Amino acid sequence: MSEPIRLVILGRQGSGKGTQGVRLAEAYDIAHVSTGDMLRAATAAGTPMGLEAKVFMDRGDLLPDDVMQGVVAERLDQDDASTNGFLLDGFPRTVGQAKALADMAPLDLVIDLDVPREMVIERMAARGRVDDTPEAIARRLDLYDEQTRPLLDFYGDQGLLVTVDGVGTEDEVEGRLRAVIDAAHQPS
Ligand code: AMP
Repeated sequence: MSEPIRLVILGRQGSGKGTQGVRLAEAYDIAHVSTGDMLRAATAAGTPMGLEAKVFMDRGDLLPDDVMQGVVAERLDQDDASTNGFLLDGFPRTVGQAKALADMAPLDLVIDLDVPREMVIERMAARGRVDDTPEAIARRLDLYDEQTRPLLDFYGDQGLLVTVDGVGTEDEVEGRLRAVIDAAHQPS
């Protein structure tokens, strides 16, 4: 049996990491763990956690680290993620979350999917998700620069980070992503 592949994909909202996350999880047969999707599902199901999460999400604010760490620890513990591996999309978003993740699982690679801020604003305006009000979009991009960009140094210092150009067609970007994953994780 091959070793699990454990990946994190970082990138601004609207960088295409959700779309690419679905494609990559299918290509490598690993779990696509999107914290945003999990929170939206909890909100739609009307669970107490989901209703509380909605307040933060509608403002474009981040949920508290301890809440997110609990959600992710539980998900990574499930069979698919622990056996085959995972691609984390939307977590970690703070250095605190990254430190907590280090205690949950070792990582093979952290990918920064790089798309300029002006370009993601155009893309998000086009996708029209309900939590995509102009105020929430601006707030999320500011929070990304303040809270999530420090993760680039955090993972860069550990030699885990690779930056991939996220500008191009979905197929082009997927090809670039698969090349860096294959280089980091040669099948034995
Ligand atoms: P996303 O779909 O990844 O853009 O996430 C949508 C929203 O869910 C974010 O704007 C946050 O409000 C919340 N969220 C998702 N992941 C996290 C996280 N790791 N930490 C804190 N809040 C999160």
